[in-house]
Amino acid sequence: MKVLVPVKRVIDYNVKVRVKADNTGVDLANVKMSMNPFDEIAVEEAIRLKEAGKASEIIVVSVGVKQSQETLRTGLAMGADRAILIEAAETVDTDVEPLAVAKLLAKVVEEEQPGLVLLGKQAIDNDCNATGQMLAAVLGWPQATFASKLEITDDGAQVIREVDGGLQTIKIKTPAIVTVDLRLNEPRYASLPNIMKAKKKPMEMKTPADYGVDVSPRLEVVKVVEPASRQAGIKVGSVAELVDKLKNEAGVI
Ligand code: AMP
Repeated sequence: MKVLVPVKRVIDYNVKVRVKADNTGVDLANVKMSMNPFDEIAVEEAIRLKEAGKASEIIVVSVGVKQSQETLRTGLAMGADRAILIEAAETVDTDVEPLAVAKLLAKVVEEEQPGLVLLGKQAIDNDCNATGQMLAAVLGWPQATFASKLEITDDGAQVIREVDGGLQTIKIKTPAIVTVDLRLNEPRYASLPNIMKAKKKPMEMKTPADYGVDVSPRLEVVKVVEPASRQAGIKVGSVAELVDKLKNEAGVI
């Protein structure tokens, strides 16, 4: 079974995000970019499936700017076998929308015929949490979102999902779409020899035109602003004063 893992190049999770002065977006000039953390978890899971003899080949695919090659190389260094870059944006400020990404991924799925597509549950830059679900809809495939455990069975997969208030176990038939949550695994670091080896692994370059997909935006960003900063707190002298303030000032009790 082939496993396809879509990986997105996003602002590194350690970077303090700054909003541009003109409120059109966040400042991405000279900012460290990395693989979306949930996608690292998806790559790790695919590698574990291969190590367990349940997957035959792992293909990482990214949609975005040319520099997404670095993200794909990270996936290859972790253990993926080959990569596909769909160059769909010219500037780092262009975020290809989930529907366009899902349509492109559907074309890759048609070509590659994977048994499983493992995506992150969401990209930490736009927090859309939509691409996996849209891909399942475009393909008409079963989906299991927010996976915290994945087991391949004879006729499909059993997935434990993180849902509000607990864990839900479901069975799905493959081929299927699975989106991964934080607690599924802890991704490995790529070793230096594997980083060197990754440079020689195949990377195919494509464009949306190769797949006949229109990636022009359907959403318009009206404004991006910083979250309101928290107001300074105060110290109270006693429990009685605290209760009094909660009752008479905050009005919460
Ligand atoms: P989102 O729906 O944008 O929150 O993204 C959910 C998941 O879809 C990500 O964790 C990736 O696995 C995949 N994905 C989203 N955008 C891209 C992209 N441009 N290239 C590759 N994979 C993507």
